[in-house]
Amino acid sequence: MITIQNLTKTYHTKSGEVEALRGISAEIRDGDIFGIIGLSGAGKSTLLRCIALLETPTSGSISIDGRDLSSLRGRQLTEHRRQIGVIFQGYNLLMQRTVSGNIAFPLEIAGVPKAEIRRRTEELIHLVGLDGKADAYPSQLSGGQCQRVAIARALANNPKVLLCDEPTSALDSFTTKAILDLLSDINQKLGVTIIIITHEIGVVKQICSQVAVIESGRFAEYGVAAEVLAAP
Ligand code: ADP
Ligand code: ADP
Repeated sequence: MITIQNLTKTYHTKSGEVEALRGISAEIRDGDIFGIIGLSGAGKSTLLRCIALLETPTSGSISIDGRDLSSLRGRQLTEHRRQIGVIFQGYNLLMQRTVSGNIAFPLEIAGVPKAEIRRRTEELIHLVGLDGKADAYPSQLSGGQCQRVAIARALANNPKVLLCDEPTSALDSFTTKAILDLLSDINQKLGVTIIIITHEIGVVKQICSQVAVIESGRFAEYGVAAEVLAAP
């Protein structure tokens, strides 16, 4: 379980302070698909980066399975980062590497033996529905296929949590549905907890079990997706 308690983040800029998060609290249970929906500038990416340990909160805490993330150092921090897979907006693929090269990359960094990397990469390619595309380069793929590569790469180290930053904002509605089906499948088959940030209500409707509506750095509403969305 991920427990977020009274989280704040203030950026200090030349033109003054920006309070990106102003006291966010939530519990995200194992196996949830948790949506965070809000307008541009509401604080979605900042929250995601705090959970991914890419940003340090100003105050408050985030803990996973009871362990406060701010207490992690060195090796524990590295191990913890591996527990969290992230897919970024715009896929962030390595253009000079093939599909399998992209998926293998985090495994190479983790020092996984070559034979194991090969086995794991093939398994992931199959999981995300890219059979036959192992040797293709990102420039030869559609947007939906690139997103599948990004998802496979994020899952390479067997994370418990998958963070998705606007996973479908660049995709047409048909491809959006296919990618959301894939995420749903991964959630069920692998038991991975998924956190999705989005500005599209359709995304929340299709796959989220829980949703938080974020406005100006606060959760305006938060709860079971069907109930929050049904509210007048
Ligand atoms: P969203 O993802 O919902 O669009 P962000 O988390 O990106 O929102 O941004 C929330 C607020 O924090 C915005 O006002 C944004 O300009 C500001 N912000 C985000 N990142 C930084 C940063 N690195 N430095 C200064 N301000 C930032
Ligand atoms: P998103 O909404 O997806 O976060 P943004 O355009 O808000 O996209 O942010 C892109 C990058 O710019 C992020 O790394 C964010 O931290 C940074 N950023 C956003 N707003 C500001 C800002 N006001 N000042 C400095 N950096 C910012």
